[in-house]
Amino acid sequence: MLYVSTRNADEKVTASQAVLKGLAENGGLFVPEQIPVLDVTVERLKDMSYQETAYEVMKLFLTDYTEEELKNCIRKAYDEKFDTSEIAPLVNIQDTYYLELFHGATIAFKDMALSILPHLLITAARKNQVKNDIVILTATSGDTGKAALAGFADVEGTRIIVFYPKDGVSPIQQKQMVTQKGANTFVVGINGNFDQAQTGVKQMFSDSDLAKEMEAAGYQFSSANSINIGRLVPQIVYYVYAYAKMVKSGAIEDGEPMNVVVPTGNFGNILAAFYAKNMGLPIGKLICASNENKVLYDFFATGTYDKNREFILTSSPSMDILISSNLERLIYRIAGNNAQKNQELMRSLQEAGYYTITEEMREQLSSFYGNYASEDETWTMIREIYQETGYIMDTHTAVAAAVYKKYRTETGDIAKTVIASTASPYKFTRSVMAAIDEKYSSRPDFELVDELEKLSKVKVPQAIEEIRTAPVLHQTVCEVNEMQSVVKKFLGIK
Ligand SMILES: *Cc1c(COP(=O)(O)O)cnc(C)c1O
Repeated sequence: MLYVSTRNADEKVTASQAVLKGLAENGGLFVPEQIPVLDVTVERLKDMSYQETAYEVMKLFLTDYTEEELKNCIRKAYDEKFDTSEIAPLVNIQDTYYLELFHGATIAFKDMALSILPHLLITAARKNQVKNDIVILTATSGDTGKAALAGFADVEGTRIIVFYPKDGVSPIQQKQMVTQKGANTFVVGINGNFDQAQTGVKQMFSDSDLAKEMEAAGYQFSSANSINIGRLVPQIVYYVYAYAKMVKSGAIEDGEPMNVVVPTGNFGNILAAFYAKNMGLPIGKLICASNENKVLYDFFATGTYDKNREFILTSSPSMDILISSNLERLIYRIAGNNAQKNQELMRSLQEAGYYTITEEMREQLSSFYGNYASEDETWTMIREIYQETGYIMDTHTAVAAAVYKKYRTETGDIAKTVIASTASPYKFTRSVMAAIDEKYSSRPDFELVDELEKLSKVKVPQAIEEIRTAPVLHQTVCEVNEMQSVVKKFLGIK
């Protein structure tokens, strides 16, 4: 299986090379030449552990990794860092199933892929005789940063540099990042938003002069963002796992379609679900939930993707995104795997800030449903579900739950549905507690943590305990146009 760039049909690489490079040339993304078909039955999958399921899925995509290499990566990734041996438990609340993807080291779903990416990357470097140190350059809307830092801290032969929007993340998210230990870690707040951070990082990736300077100093870049195929592939696993567990528990029959609802920002998580569906997993609707930055809702409704709009800071900051990078992989596919056509649309996005797809392309989006939830609807969802069931969800998951409610009302579709639950409520304690009762609004963060423990009867996670008293180790703040010089300074390049 080879990977091809969404912007250049001639750029083809192996899986391990795609993982190493992160991004293709000219800003293209690597996609598998064709999506493989799942070659194991649900009957067998339903008795498999998470790790065994991961192997069955990942071996189909990462074909130049040996069985031993892949199993090693999986074993090191999905271990006691997770607070449950199920890794991704399914929780049944009312008539919906929440796939809790936040039981890893940094309590957001990014851990599902970022626990394994460092291992995939180090293995890829060895396989491809890379001599340089690898510099992981990452833009984060809050959760990727910490999960990548945790994954790469003190990993030999790597440096990790994270840029986050200084005023665009939750207090807990920020504290998690700026207290990160590890001599190879660098965390920088930028005076700008996530899209500016992501654009700055992408520019550095495609700057050939910078690449030469890096090479001369013994470095090369790679990416821990969801543009790296090494992030996308591990995310397919939990949809397969969830389906098999739904069958095992008797919630659905083998072969019966299951809808998925995904709170979406950069379009990585829902794209993984789309890949799972294309592998033959019986997924019905792919329900794409946005917050007030509803650029994807408008895209599904009109066929025009238009980022020319106000950037809104919401209480689901990991979805405050106007340029959903991974959508490019879908666009490429519905354009008939046509790099030329995709390239034209992406150029229009870059130059004019929007593009419109053709009618034929739109017809291929029929398995998607898009909608969005306002701040009010999101907070109401948290409060109502808590009052009715005692279950407390985070703001991102609540966006998904609120959109699912709209979907049900609009369509009357009662197919069994799994909501991707992407963060622990502890990561967004301030908003979650204020949603439950306004009286909490003025209390200090860690007091709210203790209140949340009382209400939810879920123990405060280790990830929160360890930042209560941790010292701040990263203080750098820069302007958007200083990102490159900050990187050079960290690496000691003149
Ligand atoms: C990253 C993130 C999302 C959005 O996921 P994408 O793959 O970027 O669409 C949603 N919720 C949380 C908590 C996240 O960290």
